[in-house]
Amino acid sequence: MKKSAKVVNVADRAAKESSFARDLLGPLVGMGLTLTRMKDNLTGKVSPTISYPEERRSYSDRYRGAHILTAREDGTPRCVACYMCATACPADCIYIEPKEVDNPLIEKAPARFEIDMLRCVFCGFCVDACPEEAIIMSRETEICAFTREETIWGIERLMKRPELPEFGIGYRPNQELVDSTLAFTPKKPVRIQMAGRITLKEKATMIPHVTFEPDTNTD
Ligand code: SF4
Ligand code: SF4
Repeated sequence: MKKSAKVVNVADRAAKESSFARDLLGPLVGMGLTLTRMKDNLTGKVSPTISYPEERRSYSDRYRGAHILTAREDGTPRCVACYMCATACPADCIYIEPKEVDNPLIEKAPARFEIDMLRCVFCGFCVDACPEEAIIMSRETEICAFTREETIWGIERLMKRPELPEFGIGYRPNQELVDSTLAFTPKKPVRIQMAGRITLKEKATMIPHVTFEPDTNTD
């Protein structure tokens, strides 16, 4: 015979378990926690916010932010207009127009290379597909613009990257090669304790600004 399910009357159980001390203690413990959190918030010990943009959270070296077109030693783009990145791009946001160049080792270079930053999903597939380490990513996240045209980044915008010293380099499969072609030397990041912490237990640190200096060492 099928056993009938046990019925729990929560009202009865609560009445049985209730006591004066328990009823009094519960709200007091809750109020104590609330006051502790309020004190921590007021003294800055716990705060989920940071003073952006003066402070920024530190992102991983593999963060996939805005793209960078890397350069050869003579300053020309490493890109050979092979279309591998455009083919791999799931958002169909890379546009390339090739041109012929005199160098028989390269043969082609991009006359136009554009990324539509509003369509890009920052997957990094273009970086993975590139056989020349010609395209990598930075940790730059602030890519807002006033017009639609400004969100389509051409060769100059992708190579010049004035924001790079501030944000730092992001996802690139071959760090050594790419760092040498970027000619940027990372300064030692200055780590400071965050003004607040995300949780009571987490000991997070942040880098306010990771700075890079042009590599003046030509040896
Ligand atoms: S990151 Fe992804 S979506 Fe953006 S350009 Fe590269 S392949 Fe396309
Ligand atoms: S960035 Fe790389 S994959 Fe894309 S066209 Fe240039 S060389 Fe080819």
